[in-house]
Amino acid sequence: MTEKTHAYAAHAAKAPLKAFSFTRRAPGPNDVVIDIAFCGICHSDVHQVRDEWGKGTFPMVPGHEIVGSVVAVGDKVQKFKVKDQVGVGCMVDSCKKCRACSDHEEQFCLDGATMTYGSEDKHGEGPTYGGYSTRIVVTEDFVLRLPQNLDLAATAPLLCAGITTYSPLSRFGVTKGQKVAVLGLGGLGHMGVKIARAMGAHVTVLTHSEHKREDAKRLGANEVVVTRDPDALAPLAETFDFILDTVSAKHDYQMYLGLLRYGGAMVLVGLPDAPSEFHAGSLVPKRRILAGSLIGGIKETQEMLDFCSEHNIVSDIELIGASSINDAMDRMVRGEVKYRFVLDCASLAQA
Ligand code: NAP
Ligand code: ZN
Ligand code: ZN
Repeated sequence: MTEKTHAYAAHAAKAPLKAFSFTRRAPGPNDVVIDIAFCGICHSDVHQVRDEWGKGTFPMVPGHEIVGSVVAVGDKVQKFKVKDQVGVGCMVDSCKKCRACSDHEEQFCLDGATMTYGSEDKHGEGPTYGGYSTRIVVTEDFVLRLPQNLDLAATAPLLCAGITTYSPLSRFGVTKGQKVAVLGLGGLGHMGVKIARAMGAHVTVLTHSEHKREDAKRLGANEVVVTRDPDALAPLAETFDFILDTVSAKHDYQMYLGLLRYGGAMVLVGLPDAPSEFHAGSLVPKRRILAGSLIGGIKETQEMLDFCSEHNIVSDIELIGASSINDAMDRMVRGEVKYRFVLDCASLAQA
């Protein structure tokens, strides 16, 4: 069980990722050993390997949209057995005792959740290593059961992009007949469109990319508005119940707050590296809400997977091998992804 794990790592901020190998911990009684089949490439991976959020630890093995199959389980594992298809998202552990953990919101663990990569590993030395690798060992409470009816590679992005969009849509009670705008049609945005439609909402995509118009419709949008032309937004003033902002680069929040009806909410999930200003006057007179949202807890992630199973929702993916990772990240920054790159982890063993 302790053979070499093949991976791709960034060895310094902004350095291209290259082949790397290390050894995963020997499984403890509560651990599940997973051979990773596929791992999605999230824009958060790009932000972190380029150290755009600071505090990056290198070498860094990114990847937190992990799917694969169980190859061994510890003595005390109850929920999983060998050959089960499972997933791992952005977290691999938490204190399990604090108020947030008791509320099933482990992402807010007061002790600091152990993120899938770049966190201090409580079970070993050094940082945690993520899913751009062939194997991972995770305590069973942070392992997700995958639906049987969905394509495995296209399920991987649900583990971050899926839960990050499902959680705020669900928490803010998006439902049939509501008008929802999804800002930014990338990995998160395209999942947001599919999930909001499945919840019954009327969905408008707000994109700065003219060439995504047709795709947005194909993905389920009822309407598409290209935001490069500010006049195009004027007719949308005060029309939306909810706006999901998935944009990865600095942009003007105020421009979009005016599109909310009174009492409507705009939730930020995109995490640009630079701050942006807005005026209190774009919120106060209409009692609008501006909020943020971070992934989702493990219980809610399982709920999202079951929701996607019921509604047949997966990501639109482009499958790549290890040698294309750096190019894929560049293409993502240029907005050339349709709509999530997924790494075939078998290719890491040959790299
Ligand atoms: P992505 O696939 O690269 O999509 C980002 C989208 O933002 C692009 O497709 C583009 O959409 C839009 N965009 C990019 N640059 C822009 C610019 N200069 N001006 C206006 N729009 C621009 O990224 P992702 O993986 O979906 O991630 C999106 C963001 O969410 C990232 O910041 C990521 O770190 C963050 N994230 C947050 C969480 C959380 O828990 N809150 C979880 C995962 C990711 P259009 O071409 O349609 O305009
Ligand atoms: Zn992510
Ligand atoms: Zn906790």
